[in-house]
Amino acid sequence: LPKELYGKRRNSAGFEFGHRESLAALMARLATENKSVDAAPLVPGAAGQTEVVNVLSPSDRSRKVGTVRNAALADVDRAFVTGRKGFASWSRQPAEARAACLEKMGDLLEQNRDRLLVLLAAEAGKTLDDGIAEIREAVDFCRYYAEQARTLFAEPEAMPGPTGESNRLLWRGRGVFACISPWNFPLAIFLGQIAAALVAGNAVVAKPAPQTPLIAFEAVKLFHKAGVPADVLMFLPGGPDIGAAISAHPQLAGLAFTGSTGTAQAINRTLAAKNGPIVPLIAETGGINAMIVDATALAEQVADDVVMSAFRSAGQRCSALRILYLQEDIADGMLEMIEGAARELNLGDPAMTTTDVGPIIDEKQTAMLKSHVDEMRKTQKVRYSGQVPNSGNFFAPQIIELDKPEALTKEVFGPVLHVVRWKAKDLPKVIESVASTGYGLTLGVHSRIEATIRAVTDALDTGNVYINRNMIGAVVGTQPFGGSGLSGTGFKAGGPAYLMRFALEQVVSVNT
Ligand code: GLU
Repeated sequence: LPKELYGKRRNSAGFEFGHRESLAALMARLATENKSVDAAPLVPGAAGQTEVVNVLSPSDRSRKVGTVRNAALADVDRAFVTGRKGFASWSRQPAEARAACLEKMGDLLEQNRDRLLVLLAAEAGKTLDDGIAEIREAVDFCRYYAEQARTLFAEPEAMPGPTGESNRLLWRGRGVFACISPWNFPLAIFLGQIAAALVAGNAVVAKPAPQTPLIAFEAVKLFHKAGVPADVLMFLPGGPDIGAAISAHPQLAGLAFTGSTGTAQAINRTLAAKNGPIVPLIAETGGINAMIVDATALAEQVADDVVMSAFRSAGQRCSALRILYLQEDIADGMLEMIEGAARELNLGDPAMTTTDVGPIIDEKQTAMLKSHVDEMRKTQKVRYSGQVPNSGNFFAPQIIELDKPEALTKEVFGPVLHVVRWKAKDLPKVIESVASTGYGLTLGVHSRIEATIRAVTDALDTGNVYINRNMIGAVVGTQPFGGSGLSGTGFKAGGPAYLMRFALEQVVSVNT
């Protein structure tokens, strides 16, 4: 990248699917790029466990994508001890140097796009659309946080005060920060947390989800190549035991977590029970996300947005639509259109351009989805069940009509859409039932009545509200993302206040 462009935020490069030649070249490269990735802890001096675990593709369980050697418990302590040393020099670097590393990382991601796409499809079951979007989001995080860090952290801020006194506000790194991330965005969320923590001046101990260690391993190696020292960013693949040891570590200075509400609550308890420094938690969890549609909504647009929000990425997004409130007068026609659109979805190999919906991440998740639908079938009406391919770990889109919203009591992380009907006079009840879930991540409203939109948005404090559009795919710097209540601590990734959560403020007052 020419030097003069550093510091100027550029959008990540897109991919022109309509361009036959580049598409043919991409498909040819995808077919040949099939190297096994062998991941292991990246902590200076760590050996990891002796056992090596195979990582299998969710869309073809006979296909080995690579292997992982998980971290041993002793590696956790080693990472914190090493990280304290790395932190001492990293935190003293000018914010500019740390921002430049992130920008370099953004460029490296773009240069390695095809290889990363292969891995996203093979290891995480991401369709090409989703894979490209995820790499772009990762690039955007790097560039956006670099730009933010330059504005926020470059110079101490002079505060007003009396004559004869200078007051300056400084932002510093907190220490060794832990980043614990989910399998559904194994690159963008994994790397977004790390990028924010690093550029704020912290050393980082990163634990990927056990289902997706390979793409995370590749990302950490790219960070190192971008100039982040090995003792500043460390990689600890493993399961809940490693996560628990990280959150309980006495040297932990802060923790960013994205994943289930239950795990966030467990981490919160661990942090609270520690007898040492008080450690901040940045948590982003799930939601029973609702879309409210009234009789004035544009039917075609609703059908398109519902199918996209509920079924894209096989519903494996924390932003995905879980419960659709349809005004009774239009419900039958709307459901027919939605079912028609769902029927058109192609399930299959995520690396094919013809695929709309890829696999479910693992057998445990598929079993959970199956048992949910079986349970629902006993008392509710399953209106639509799609077809699954013959092999692989797939679960077909389902549409379940509920007799009342309370019939859905938990977040169901997959392609299962629940629908309830409401009468025009009952809008306040609909709002009440959305609020009563205690979650607050995403919310959709489809209406052409200004007063209805206002009534809903005024009453609910959901983190991301989407009016007359779909409700997934928040864009960095445009739709800062995150919710509150059972959905998290409310701090928004990809937003102007995010980096502050990772930094420590200090005020220096000098009698001049
Ligand atoms: N940011 C993503 C979106 O807007 C969802 C992130 C997640 O699933 O954790 O769709």
